[in-house]
Formats: sequence, C-alpha cells, structure tokens
Amino acid sequence: MKCAHRLPQRRRRQGIPDEEWMDKENDGPHPQRDVPPPGHTTRRLLSLVLDDEPRQRLRITRAFTSMLVYVTCLGLAEYALVHRMADPVATRLLEGGMIAWMVIVYATLRSGLNLRFRDPSLTFVQIMAAGAWITAAYVVFTPVRGALLMLLALTLVFSIFNLDRKRRRIYNGCVVVGTGLTMFTLSTLRPDDYPFQVEWVHFVLTAVVLAVMGRLSEQLLAIRARLRSQRNELEAALSRIQELATRDALTGLPNRRYATDLFAQLARGAERTGSPLTVCLIDLDHFKRVNDSYGHKAGDIVLQRFADTATGALRESDVLARWGGEEFLALLPDTPVKKADQSMARVRAALAQTRLVAAADAAAVTFSAGLAQFRPGESIEHAVERADFALYRAKSDGRNRCVISD
Ligand code: GH3
Ligand code: MG
Ligand code: MG
Repeated sequence: MKCAHRLPQRRRRQGIPDEEWMDKENDGPHPQRDVPPPGHTTRRLLSLVLDDEPRQRLRITRAFTSMLVYVTCLGLAEYALVHRMADPVATRLLEGGMIAWMVIVYATLRSGLNLRFRDPSLTFVQIMAAGAWITAAYVVFTPVRGALLMLLALTLVFSIFNLDRKRRRIYNGCVVVGTGLTMFTLSTLRPDDYPFQVEWVHFVLTAVVLAVMGRLSEQLLAIRARLRSQRNELEAALSRIQELATRDALTGLPNRRYATDLFAQLARGAERTGSPLTVCLIDLDHFKRVNDSYGHKAGDIVLQRFADTATGALRESDVLARWGGEEFLALLPDTPVKKADQSMARVRAALAQTRLVAAADAAAVTFSAGLAQFRPGESIEHAVERADFALYRAKSDGRNRCVISD
C-alpha cells in the first residue's frame, strides 16, 4: 500500500531526537496548527542563545546545566572572599579561569565548532575540565575544601548516560590520582593548613565515592541498554503484528480488512472535498485453469506478478488490495469512473507485456473488472456491491474487459 502515514519517519527525516519531539508533541501549541507570532521575543532570544537545530540546542542546554557547578564555585569564591577564607589573588585567578572556560565551551557549541569532534557534546572534555577546576578550588578554598569534593561526584552524575565505561574510568583515575597528588603535596608543603590525617580521610572518601558511583552508573547503563533492547523488540513485534493484520502474506498488498478501512477513509475524504473516487473489482480470468495446468505454486507466482504489474501501472495515490483468492480491489481517489476505465486499460496493457506464467505454452493472463464511482452518502458495501455486479456482467459478456456500473 502506497499511502501509509508514518509519524516516526517524518520525525526522523526532520532530524529531531526522540526526547525533543516528545516535548513538542506534549507541550500544547503545534507548529502547524497554531502558528506562533513570528516575532515573539522569547522565542527569538531562545533561538539566538540556544540554536535552532534541535540536537545542538540539547547540547547547549546540557552544558548550561553542568555550568551550575561553576556557578556554585563562583558563589563560594565570593563567600570565601567576604569571610577571608581564601587568598584574594588566587580566588580572582580561579574565578577568571572558570568564567573563561565557560565562555570557551559555550562559544564552541554555539559556533558549531563542536561538530568537528568525535563527541560533539564535548562531555568528556567538559567533565575532565570540571575535575581539574574542582581540584584547583580545593587548593584555594582551604577551610571549606572538604565540601568541594562532593562536586567531583556531581560531575560524574552529569555524564552518567553520555560517557562510555572507558572514559568514565579515565575520569575516575585522573581525579583520584590528581586529587591524591594535590593532597599529598599540600600536606607536605603546608602541614599546618593541610594536616596529613585530614587529607588522608579526604582522599579515601573521594576514591571510595567515585568507585561506588562508577559501579552504580555501570548498572544504570546496563538497565538502560536492556530497556532499549526490550523497546526495540516491542517495536519490531508491534510492526510485525501490524503487518500481519493489514497485509496479504502472498502479495504484500493490503488485505481485505485493511482495504475496507482505507476505502472508508477515502470515501470520507471524497465526501468532504467532493472529489470523485472510483472502486474497481478485478478478477483474473479462468484462473482455475492456471492452477490446473501448471500447479498451485505457479498460480501463486501469477498472483504475485499480477500484484506487482498492476501496482506499477497505477498511480502512487491509488490503492491496490487483495480482496480474496484471485480477486483484487483497486481504489482510485480523485478519479471519475471514465478515467478509472483508462487506468484499467493501462493495467491491461502492462499485463500484456508481462509473462505471468513461465511455461512456453501458457496463454496470456487477462482480467475482468467492474467499476463503480462512489456516490456521496452511499455505504462502501453498496459501492463494492455495484462494482461486483458490473464485474459479473464483464464475465458474462466474454471476460477480458471492464464494465462500468450505472
Ligand atoms: P472466472 O474467469 O470465471 O473468474 O474463472 P476462474 O477460474 O478464475 O474462477 P473460479 O472462481 O472458478 O476459480 C478461482 C480459482 O482461484 C480457484 C482457486 O483455487 C484459485 N485460487 C484462489 N486463491 C488462490 C491462491 O491463493 N493461490 C492459487 N494458486 N490459487 C488460488
Ligand atoms: Mg473469482
Ligand atoms: Mg477468476
């Protein structure tokens, strides 16, 4: 069937990630239904700051969220300065460095430079940098340094779903070695400010928390992978069920039940727009002879070839369905019955060019058809009945012809 509407395909063609599309579908105004005022200030501002491309927008939004760690550090820096808990020069240097880093990350994402990298989200670079900045803050904010260690774990949370196991281990390894060396150096050089016993506790806690979090995130990733594969299996099963419920197994055409639904849909459309719709009931002539002479298998092949040939001869918007046995139903939207008659002549000509039965002594396969133009207000059963009656006349008038219902 040629006119199936598949929403996920449309979504994929537009390149919108699943989460984004779901947001769009759920949050009220539809892009086509309720066109928002084009000059809307908030929208323009958002598209200026966040980019219009959905994936880039998502990356920038995520980077903003992770920048909350830096904003927290900046707040802490100001607090430490007010309460004289940190060296002012080192604090200002640290603040300047963090602000500069946030600007670099944002500019790289917003300019699209990130797309040149293997990981366009820059997740690994961002968490490695965060680890380094937090370690630097540990050095500067001496009295509150212990509290800063929890930010190392928070950074890991940001990357739980975006980092593979290898990179997460590199992060953990670098952080443990980096903080360990920093703590060791500080307790050696300034034992009064950084007592070895306290640094040792900090180090052990950091190493344990990161190791446990790494393990937990691996378990979460495994659960997510399992859910994903279950979802894929369900989707495949659903599409298989849909296929079985709507398709004829031999020819791949819509089956009778689905054809009835499609006819009802097209009839509603024709009634709404007033455009003509013609239904053709097609029956292969003397098909029993094909079976009797060449076998049931050859008969099956003839049915498949007929389906292919007729589909090729009809328009994209036409529907060809297997009605049952060697009977087919064609639905021709926007087509008055006279034009449908010409379409059937096209199918007949295409059929004459095709060898449906492989055997050399086989006669050409022909068909008879009854045509009825749908009348607004009539039931689809009645329209099919009229086409069937016309088909009966085509058979009794000698076959290999079309008869138009009055
Ligand atoms: P007419 O021109 O009057 O339509 O003659 P006919 O022989 O085509 O009609 P009839 O209804 O007597 O026979 C239809 C045959 O189609 C009988 C049946 O075995 C065969 N047939 C129905 N479905 C299939 C199928 O799926 N595969 C095969 N190979 N044959 C089928
Ligand atoms: Mg028949
Ligand atoms: Mg027949």
